[in-house]
Amino acid sequence: MGQSRPADQAGLRRGNLALLVRTLREHGALSRAQLAVRSGLSKATVSSLVTDLEARGLVHDAGVSAGGQGRPGQLVDLRPDSVCGVGLDVHVGHVGALVTDLGGEVLYRQRAIADVPVIGPERALDMLAELATEAMAGLKNATGVTVSVPGLVDTAAGTVPFSPRLRWRDVAVADGLLGAMAETATTDVADLVYLTGDFGIGGGVIAGGRLIRGFGGFAGEIGHMAMDPLGPYCSCGRRGCWETQVGLGALLHACADPEDPIRDPALDLDQRMRMIRSRAEQHDRRTLDALHQIGTALGLGVSYLVNLLNPAVVVLGGYFAALPEWLVEPIRNQVVAHVLAPGAGGARVVGSRLGFTAATTGGALASLRRVLEDPTVVPVIQGNEEEAPA
Ligand SMILES: [Zn+2]
Repeated sequence: MGQSRPADQAGLRRGNLALLVRTLREHGALSRAQLAVRSGLSKATVSSLVTDLEARGLVHDAGVSAGGQGRPGQLVDLRPDSVCGVGLDVHVGHVGALVTDLGGEVLYRQRAIADVPVIGPERALDMLAELATEAMAGLKNATGVTVSVPGLVDTAAGTVPFSPRLRWRDVAVADGLLGAMAETATTDVADLVYLTGDFGIGGGVIAGGRLIRGFGGFAGEIGHMAMDPLGPYCSCGRRGCWETQVGLGALLHACADPEDPIRDPALDLDQRMRMIRSRAEQHDRRTLDALHQIGTALGLGVSYLVNLLNPAVVVLGGYFAALPEWLVEPIRNQVVAHVLAPGAGGARVVGSRLGFTAATTGGALASLRRVLEDPTVVPVIQGNEEEAPA
């Protein structure tokens, strides 16, 4: 073995290693025999692959399986802390960092409040670098760092050509990705529209299991659909964009007068959202009317997306996810009224479980995905060389 190994055989092996990692991630600890059954690989192949994963520190022995049919077997499980993904995000009101391990547990989550459009990209990226340094302090095992930014992202170049929200132009930021990737990882839906609301409205479309980037990587700019060409001016300079109707600015404006603490940019957004929630829970008329107005405008735009894409799920992220009790119903009413397909083509409208952290979680998962797709990016640990098959 090993004298002449065709390139495609190495590729096959990487694919099989990835298959075992995914299987363990889904099912938890399994014996080699169970892994063989679930993966469809032979027991000999599984044994050799497990040895390889052990040498890379990705799996370890996890005791002996208890009874069931057949002989008890030595269990293998992922070492969740063996590798971590780091997600960073830049937002109008803050920069954030999040670290998750191979098992999906959040190891670090931090946010620094910042008026990003005012301080400019250099200082914002400095602050982000500071957070990233803190997030990665003592992490020996980060597989990659992914940054999420609202606005147009050139994924091939790792740059932000234009973000009207941040007032950034041609800012070089590596590995920008969408919160939508976090949502597929947690829901496993192949046809999904992800909407994230803060001051701007961002989106991600997954069709047939693939993130749609478009010809130039600019797909998903749904916040700038012209809903009312004579409407108020948008941060992009055009008029009546969807985000002027359903962005956080529109909600805050509709909910409260300028002197209200809800409109105070010095307060953390989470805190302001909690105030809106508690007013809605107390049936405050102005708050309920504001949420109904936003939900209706949101639903009209969602109906266009549902007619176009026939998604299984429309996931509401960002601030929308903090208020699903009041937004989902008016959205559904609009979708039912305006979508041609019976029963809205089966589309469900749901609040994100990730909420405000979706962008950073998506980044962390995108980083981990490199390992999930090819475990050999993790080097063999020194001293384990002889255990790894040559
Ligand atoms: Zn616009």
